[in-house]
Amino acid sequence: MATKRVGNLPADYANNGFYGQDILSVNQFDKGKLDYIFRVAHEMRVLVERFGSADLLQGKILANLFYEPSTRTSSSFMASMLRLGGQVIPINNVQYSSVTKGESLPDTIRTLESYADVIVLRHPEVGAAATAARYAQKPLINAGDGVGEHPTQALLDLFTIVEDLGKVDTLKIAMVGDLKYGRTVHSLTKLLVNYDVEFVFVSPDILAMPDDVLEVVRERGHKFRVTQDVHEVIGDVDVLYVTRVQKERFSDMAQYDRVRDQYVVDEALMAKAKREMIVMHPLPRVNEISYAVDEDPRAAYFRQMRNGMYIRMALLAAVLGKA
Ligand code: ASP
Repeated sequence: MATKRVGNLPADYANNGFYGQDILSVNQFDKGKLDYIFRVAHEMRVLVERFGSADLLQGKILANLFYEPSTRTSSSFMASMLRLGGQVIPINNVQYSSVTKGESLPDTIRTLESYADVIVLRHPEVGAAATAARYAQKPLINAGDGVGEHPTQALLDLFTIVEDLGKVDTLKIAMVGDLKYGRTVHSLTKLLVNYDVEFVFVSPDILAMPDDVLEVVRERGHKFRVTQDVHEVIGDVDVLYVTRVQKERFSDMAQYDRVRDQYVVDEALMAKAKREMIVMHPLPRVNEISYAVDEDPRAAYFRQMRNGMYIRMALLAAVLGKA
């Protein structure tokens, strides 16, 4: 991948493997890069806990462009930039931008990069981030492209597993819910194949993990199992990664209604789980995890959310050559 321009700095300014790069897919990450970004994220946590903020990215501007709803991804990218001393152009309501006047994605990107040093993009179409990155001269970070990928979420998910369980190798990881449309489980699975893990995919038939993702799991020689019954596997897993049924991706609402509340993680289910395991969820949750589970120390979803900021701080600093 070509190195893009970051301010007036030369292309070989920082030799961290991220400088001037787009972040489009988890396929860009090997174990070395993961270790590096997790180390920096850990430092970012210490920095925030001790000092709240720093001036590492002072003078830098992020354009935060969201064509789909977002709470955590959007605000954590903003918080990351602000905590590192940078500034943000937030475009969360594209309906109030020139997109409504018919402006194309490439032209919107070209506009924003005239003002900013890095662009974060969420878009409803698979591959939109890659398309936008081809037009952009500045680094672009994929914040979710339809049912495709959500690489920064997968990084924060994996970081949470490492921080909470202290390892990834030998873990048994179950993904539950909408594995067809849930982009976070696509990206997380593709990251986890870098480790010695076993997978369990739990979903209704019509929301099964897509074949191309299963193919990666097979190719890399991982053991995996497919089931519809979470009760069958709950006692045996180290990570239970729960997802929301992605209502907005259904064309047939009757079909959505049939699968919407199939899995609910409640205290009774948690009573059957290991003592040392974690329950994760990218959020927002609809009904998949009952509020009573929030008090359980195994509930990791709020820690995940916080970790998102440290990961995004690390990525922004690395891409802009400051980590
Ligand atoms: N927030 C996550 C995403 O943007 C998960 C979800 O929406 O269910 O993919």
